[in-house]
Amino acid sequence: MKEKDKIYDNYLDLKNIHSLNDYTKLEKAGKIIYDGGLVLFPTETVYGLGANGLDPEAVKRIYIAKGRASDNPLILHICDIGMLGKIAQNITDLEFSLMNAFWPGPFTIILNKTPFVPSIVSGGLETVGVRMPSNEIARNLIKYSGVPIAAPSANISGRPSGTNINDIFDELASKVDYIIDGGDCNIGLESTVVRVIDNVPHILRPGKITAEEIKQVAGNVIIDKHILGKLEPNKKVLSPGMKYKHYAPKTECVLVYDSSINKIQEKIIHVAQKCISNGKVPTIMCSEQNSEFLRKNLDENIHIINLGSDLNSISKNIFSDLRKADTYNSDLIIIEGVSTDGLGLAIMNRLLRACNYNVI
Ligand code: AMP
Ligand code: MG
Repeated sequence: MKEKDKIYDNYLDLKNIHSLNDYTKLEKAGKIIYDGGLVLFPTETVYGLGANGLDPEAVKRIYIAKGRASDNPLILHICDIGMLGKIAQNITDLEFSLMNAFWPGPFTIILNKTPFVPSIVSGGLETVGVRMPSNEIARNLIKYSGVPIAAPSANISGRPSGTNINDIFDELASKVDYIIDGGDCNIGLESTVVRVIDNVPHILRPGKITAEEIKQVAGNVIIDKHILGKLEPNKKVLSPGMKYKHYAPKTECVLVYDSSINKIQEKIIHVAQKCISNGKVPTIMCSEQNSEFLRKNLDENIHIINLGSDLNSISKNIFSDLRKADTYNSDLIIIEGVSTDGLGLAIMNRLLRACNYNVI
């Protein structure tokens, strides 16, 4: 079979779900997962690169396909609470309350693992990240596979996460056995990752579920200091993912932020003009509020990408727009930052890494 036919045969378009019956089409993909295959599938956060989370050989294929470091553990995705007992143990009341509050949804909790979870899934740790996604395609895929699905974000390690199939097709299609196209992901940033230590939730990776929401359930919350800070070499961290390069386009990026909209505009113009005077071409990614002003004040040939007018749209667009900015082959991508309140914390966490902490 030619490669193209193979991909066509193993591609399921579920962008428009008309009835609950459409989910039965996921039976084939579920069987592929159960049998040790790799499947690209949508969730409400980003696309996942999924495999049978109880099958070490299948999970190994995920690490190889992504080029992911073997000590960076994977999240197990479940479709109902009945699946939890097989993979996690000694769960505390607070951990149950958090799951109850935020599942199904963009929330991952780090729990003590059972011996059923292969150590390749947990990167050798005694804990495992667990999430119950809310996306119905993801949930039905897990249901049909009958096993927890190990799934990291669908991207080559270090690159921006994939939030639609087009963005990741070239880098991953040839490495997977099946593709489920569910259109654009609603949230666009990966799940909030939390670990409860001494009865206090620690946010290890910020996401759509904010510190404020977690505090409302737990009465307390700690935001790990590495979320906005650069890691010193050899520093011990609570989440191995913090050590690695993330979300980066191929083009060099700089993050610009200030206390007022006028100062941000001034800074962006200054950085763009400096770039141009050095004979280089910038691309700008900014909020809707600034895009019109910048268009009027900069050469019309400069690409200006409008990220959206609020934190929800920025979070939905950011990964796809980082990839789009790369296609313009410019010399520098200038990205407008946001305040770190609420969902802004998750956006800035991703942007700081995309820019390798190059902030002005
Ligand atoms: P990704 O799979 O790309 O969404 O990344 C998952 C994130 O969760 C990574 O940053 C991992 O390091 C983190 N993670 C997964 N399992 C654990 C665990 N058992 N303990 C701490 N962090 C974890
Ligand atoms: Mg990832």
